[in-house]
Amino acid sequence: MQITRAEFKCSSAQLAQVPSDSLPDFAFIGRSNVGKSSLINTLTGRNSLAKVSGTPGKTRLINHFLINGQWYLVDLPGYGYARTSKSQREDFSRLILDYVLRCERMHFLFVLLDSRLEPQAIDLRFIRLLGEHGVPFGLVFTKTDKLSRAQLDRSLDRYRRTLAEEWEELPPIFTSSSLRGSGREEILDFIGQCLTQC
Ligand code: GDP
Repeated sequence: MQITRAEFKCSSAQLAQVPSDSLPDFAFIGRSNVGKSSLINTLTGRNSLAKVSGTPGKTRLINHFLINGQWYLVDLPGYGYARTSKSQREDFSRLILDYVLRCERMHFLFVLLDSRLEPQAIDLRFIRLLGEHGVPFGLVFTKTDKLSRAQLDRSLDRYRRTLAEEWEELPPIFTSSSLRGSGREEILDFIGQCLTQC
């Protein structure tokens, strides 16, 4: 799929504020600093559609971008910075949980993971939550330019083994580097395929 138009539509602080039309949402989420804004800018070919920031946890709203007048790319708040939280669920804001678990607009969720890190407890908790609620999702391993091919393969294998302990079937897996622009085509083609089935 080629992106010919990408327009900011709205920022929502509550589920009631997200668009009410019938176009499908394809959403992106991950721990703060995982490279979500960079990936969104790479996918859309716009340098500053999503704000790339060194400050973790800065964006707390749901941002909708209308793509080709056809679907929404949704930039969700980063998770994992609720340092005062006591329960595991509080790692994920009410807004994130409302949208991800309850919003019927959401067609597919891309969960971003830093390819350099071993499986992180908070990501595994989030993935488990998605599984428990039957949310359609895939994994995007980011910043692959920071690893050699062999290191990346080891990292992906480690993740697959960890997930296989709990899951019978693995979700779709993508790799990306915003520095090199890699992964863009695969992710957009996947979305394109989903759109033909909508
Ligand atoms: P966000 O908080 O998840 O939106 O993450 P950002 O997109 O703001 O990226 C966090 C930091 O990682 C920034 O310093 C980016 O320049 C850097 N970064 C993001 N993606 C990549 C990538 O693919 N390769 C490299 N080398 N750095 C990246």
